[in-house]
Amino acid sequence: MSDVPDADGGLSPLPGTTPSEMFPVLTSAQQARILAHGQRRTVKKDEIVVELNAHVTKVFVVVSGQLHILQVSNNQEHDVAICNAGMFTGELNVLLGRRGLVRIRAAEKSELIEIEREALQALVETDSELSDIFLRAYILRRLELIAREVGDIVLIGSGHSLDTLRIKEFLTRNYQPYSYIDLERDAQVQEMLDRFSLSIDDLPVLICRGTAVLRNPSNEEITGCLGFNEGIDQAHVRDLIIVGAGPAGLAAAVYAASEGLNVLVLESNAPGGQAGASSKIENYLGFPTGISGHELAGRAYAQAQKFGAEMLIAKDAKGLACARRPYAVLIGDGQHIPARTVVIASGAQYRRLRLENLSKFEGAGIYYGATHLEAQLCDGEEVIVVGGGNSAGQAAVFLAQTTRRVYVLVRSDGLAATMSRYLIRRIEETPNIELRSNTEVVVLDGNDHLERVTWRNNQSGQTELHNIAHLFSMTGAVPNSAWLGGCVACDEVGFIKTGLDLTTEDLAKAKWPLKRPPYLLETSLPGVFAVGDIRGGNLKRVASAVGEGSIAVSFVHQVLAE
Ligand SMILES: Cc1cc2nc3c(=O)[nH]c(=O)nc-3n(C[C@H](O)[C@H](O)[C@H](O)COP(=O)(O)OP(=O)(O)OC[C@H]3O[C@@H](n4cnc5c(N)ncnc54)[C@H](O)[C@@H]3O)c2cc1C
Repeated sequence: MSDVPDADGGLSPLPGTTPSEMFPVLTSAQQARILAHGQRRTVKKDEIVVELNAHVTKVFVVVSGQLHILQVSNNQEHDVAICNAGMFTGELNVLLGRRGLVRIRAAEKSELIEIEREALQALVETDSELSDIFLRAYILRRLELIAREVGDIVLIGSGHSLDTLRIKEFLTRNYQPYSYIDLERDAQVQEMLDRFSLSIDDLPVLICRGTAVLRNPSNEEITGCLGFNEGIDQAHVRDLIIVGAGPAGLAAAVYAASEGLNVLVLESNAPGGQAGASSKIENYLGFPTGISGHELAGRAYAQAQKFGAEMLIAKDAKGLACARRPYAVLIGDGQHIPARTVVIASGAQYRRLRLENLSKFEGAGIYYGATHLEAQLCDGEEVIVVGGGNSAGQAAVFLAQTTRRVYVLVRSDGLAATMSRYLIRRIEETPNIELRSNTEVVVLDGNDHLERVTWRNNQSGQTELHNIAHLFSMTGAVPNSAWLGGCVACDEVGFIKTGLDLTTEDLAKAKWPLKRPPYLLETSLPGVFAVGDIRGGNLKRVASAVGEGSIAVSFVHQVLAE
């Protein structure tokens, strides 16, 4: 990629995109529609219209003149892109209401249309032509910034550290551009450590906004430093709080916000849920060549923001105050956020293998997702995938592309009862995937990182020791419902009961107060719904999670009208 902005405004774009998609030129009719929601402004040569790290509250359309989009590091400005006449500023941060990653400076005296973020949001909700143009440009620009590592976030860590992997995943899944310096591979490390008076023991370290130095920060601390949750009022009563931003929660957010409800989403980690850990979802309607969970979640996240849904990231729902009206969701720091209705979309979590020293190797050889981040760590090596479901099948097929050999270990006789036919066929047709049935892992061994794995064939009793340093654990999931503290009726394993699955006894026990029975997807608490993987009887698919999230919103309207 060239580092010199071209005359079309953008840098050489990502493969498959064109500069005109990333930096489209608005027609005079389109500019007039924007002006109706904004105002004209003249800026002098060298005037800064957007400062690095300031909250992005405005967007500018260049009527005449030129704006330079600049990356700033060590007080030096470098061109990222140029906005010529007809082009507009901004990227995903405008919709997310977050701090800017770049500085924008007038290259010459320029005539601009200035539009406030809220006015732009209102405009794109009603003007579908401009909505498409802005949304496409903003998503492409963010991808470009990520590809170029633009921004002032630097992570220094090690490929063998669980916390480094956690932070990388958190930043990646929140679409935050960052630069990564690997302790073991990069000569720059010592220089960076010296500059910020750090020792190797402090790693992983996140240098945030060029100055703040966070030593092994929690996801919540990173969120605080990057200002992800700033400006979200936690006091006023929402029409709807959605707990969880997996496919079910994001679908509920898109439908609720687009239908005018005041909606807040709480997400304990990053948008995308389990689907975000999927390298390629091939059975979701409308994507014949498949789509990565990360990309699907990114689109849904931008869509929810476009309609004005608010989202608190790295914020756990700790409980539900279910005896009061309106309800209130308790969050980490003891605060309550009140809401008239609640959609529980907190999904499920991976089952962990019962092995003595498992936690020692989690992130240091044991992984629960198979995305390109993990694939990079085991390039050209032998790996193990444990599990016989679709997620295990996908992981095996994906990893087989870049690793030497993939052993798939299942305790059952084979895959037929648990995996989709198309994945079984792929596994059979991939020469470097080896299926071992009736087999389970019995010993993990290594120092700082997994080095050796022993497995046993439960029919023959024979054990095998392999020098394998990467094991992908894909053995199903348990529901994330403990935080509800018994507020809603659940089945014996913790999945939430809804609608017709609630028995007369369940409702009597829960003191169901209404004459009407619970709606479809409604729990034993009126106005509290459960959707997606957390719900008993759900099919554990992206499509069913999305479907349920959207259906629940129609019942939310009915409850609000009662
Ligand atoms: C590797 C993998 C591959 C898959 N591939 C496919 C596929 O190809 N096709 C398919 O149809 N399905 C696939 N699935 C299944 C699919 O991803 C799930 O069915 C789907 O993600 C369920 O969506 P959900 O929103 O209900 O829950 P989840 O995706 O589990 O999302 C729940 C969200 O809630 C958050 N959360 C949990 N507790 C709290 C709390 N207390 N407070 C706030 N937030 C909380 C979590 O962080 C998470 O983001 C796959 C799953 C995995 C793991």
